[in-house]
Amino acid sequence: MARYTDAVCRLCRREGAKLFLKGDRCYTDKCAMVRRPYSPGQHGQRRKKLSEFGLQLREKQKARRYYGVLETQFSNYFEMANRKKGMTGENLLKILESRLDNVVYRFGLANSRPEARQLVVHGHFTVNGRKVNIPSYLLKPGDVVAVAEKSKGSAKFKELAELSASKNIPSFLEYNVDKLEGKVVGECAREEVGIPLEEHLIVELYSK
Ligand code: SF4
Repeated sequence: MARYTDAVCRLCRREGAKLFLKGDRCYTDKCAMVRRPYSPGQHGQRRKKLSEFGLQLREKQKARRYYGVLETQFSNYFEMANRKKGMTGENLLKILESRLDNVVYRFGLANSRPEARQLVVHGHFTVNGRKVNIPSYLLKPGDVVAVAEKSKGSAKFKELAELSASKNIPSFLEYNVDKLEGKVVGECAREEVGIPLEEHLIVELYSK
């Protein structure tokens, strides 16, 4: 399974936005967006005026990197969103929000989406009682996500349980910290998506 393995703070600097890929560090002064809030590379501090295409491309890359999705999968999600009724841009965000790794992160059971992805791959979660180790697994309303029985007693999940107890859970999810499990009860509302994204730019890019 392909994934990005280079330094992730470069991605935030490239997109000019915090993508929260490193957990606790993202909320401290050590964050690279606090220390060096300009694009990486030799010419990163030069201000460049972006073309219309450039703006659309950057918005797509920002969304892709925020959710940790590679190019082909992202364009497949766009096709799915386009086939659904309603606004394509919002449909796309709803699909991205329904990924298993994203939902684990939104429950507070991981410090970042990359960590959620890793925990899913390592088999620490079940969906409707069956082990699922595919981060891109798309959840539907009614699906129950739980920490696997064998993982519940681990020090890692005891620590994460404390973190999740204090997390604001979006309204499309229900979460029970005592059982370390949660349920998808609907679709993510546009205003509950965590980063400032102009999804209409992504739609325009793919509509060319
Ligand atoms: Fe992005 Fe977090 Fe790195 Fe800051 S610390 S640049 S928010 S990944």
